[in-house]
Amino acid sequence: MANPSLLILAGDGIGPEVMAEVKKIIGWMGAKRGIRFDVNEDLVGGCAYDAHGTPLTDATMAKAQEVDAVLLGAVGGPKYDKLDFSVKPERGLLRLRKEMDLFSNLRPAQCFDALADFSSLKREVVAGLDIVIVRELTSGVYFGEPRGIFKEGNERVGINTQRYTESEITRVAKSAFELARKRGNKVCSMEKANVMESGILWRDVVQEVHDRDYPDVELSHMYADNGAMQLVRWPKQFDVIVTDNLFGDVLSDCAAMLTGSLGMLPSASLGAPMANGRPKALYEPVHGSAPDISGQGKANPIACILSFAMALRYSFDLGEEATRVEKAVEKVLADGVRTTDLMGPEGGTPVSTSQMGDAVLAALDASL
Ligand code: NAD
Repeated sequence: MANPSLLILAGDGIGPEVMAEVKKIIGWMGAKRGIRFDVNEDLVGGCAYDAHGTPLTDATMAKAQEVDAVLLGAVGGPKYDKLDFSVKPERGLLRLRKEMDLFSNLRPAQCFDALADFSSLKREVVAGLDIVIVRELTSGVYFGEPRGIFKEGNERVGINTQRYTESEITRVAKSAFELARKRGNKVCSMEKANVMESGILWRDVVQEVHDRDYPDVELSHMYADNGAMQLVRWPKQFDVIVTDNLFGDVLSDCAAMLTGSLGMLPSASLGAPMANGRPKALYEPVHGSAPDISGQGKANPIACILSFAMALRYSFDLGEEATRVEKAVEKVLADGVRTTDLMGPEGGTPVSTSQMGDAVLAALDASL
């Protein structure tokens, strides 16, 4: 059988720095676990613009469509700020998301015990937290028509339209139920069915998909405003939350910050199943290219490492190996290894990006 295939697009700024640590882990998987990936590397963002005059070439786009998963670092930087909008580094990432039709955005909020004091909430509320928000990413009020600012009598009126079709709700609901089956088997769907027709349809369709195809998964519904409140009151009541584009935007940022540093947050964006049954997928840390620290060995590689762990779990059905990587990260943090962004008020000496990667590798070795 062919090896699983990965396209690595490290991008700009700290992207290549954090990706170098993931590449070490990919090498480790081959050497120590016999799990080998066919890895192809290419350019995206500012570096692609420098080389080819575009943030993503057609050839790279075609490769992304063919592989089992894309792993992306970060794009952008001040050098490119004055470029025309059409060739800005971020356009490369947007093109990938759009052409791969990545409609389901997974944002985990996982709080490692050793970092529980980094959260703005009390330790007992967040310690051990492990939830995922599934946000619909390609429809809803950010895309609905009509939209614009119009003149009405003597004043201007701003209009955006919340619009969801049954098929759009169905596919993201399925993605949430599938995800829940690989985790705690529980989904909470959030909308505002009390005041929005699109919310009523959302609730009905999620329930129908559940009753038809996923009766084994525990499903609940919650109004999104209550959801926001519950997320900060007692987030551990959730496993998977599925919601629309707008509510997901707000709720996933809120949930992410329960856990502390930006350098810790992975993400996955999933599309329709490919011929092999796996979803099209792009994995990336939530953070950007961090120009303020790039080239200094200060970047925390954990968000990118955890993004790779998500790829192991969701694209390659290697949940056990994903857990192994997550546990290795947990051990390193418990041992007090910290990059600069994770330094608490108690101080200490931070490790570099590659030292953090090496510490994770050592913990992986110890797991065997
Ligand atoms: P950023 O995420 O790059 O940085 C915000 C702050 O967090 C900075 O102080 C940075 O040093 C810190 N930080 C981020 N990642 C870190 C890590 N792994 N370890 C330690 N510290 C980390 O956001 P920004 O400064 O608003 O944007 C910088 C550039 O990145 C811009 O060009 C922006 O457009 C781009 N960007 C790209 C993406 C992406 O590629 N998905 C996402 C956000 C921003």
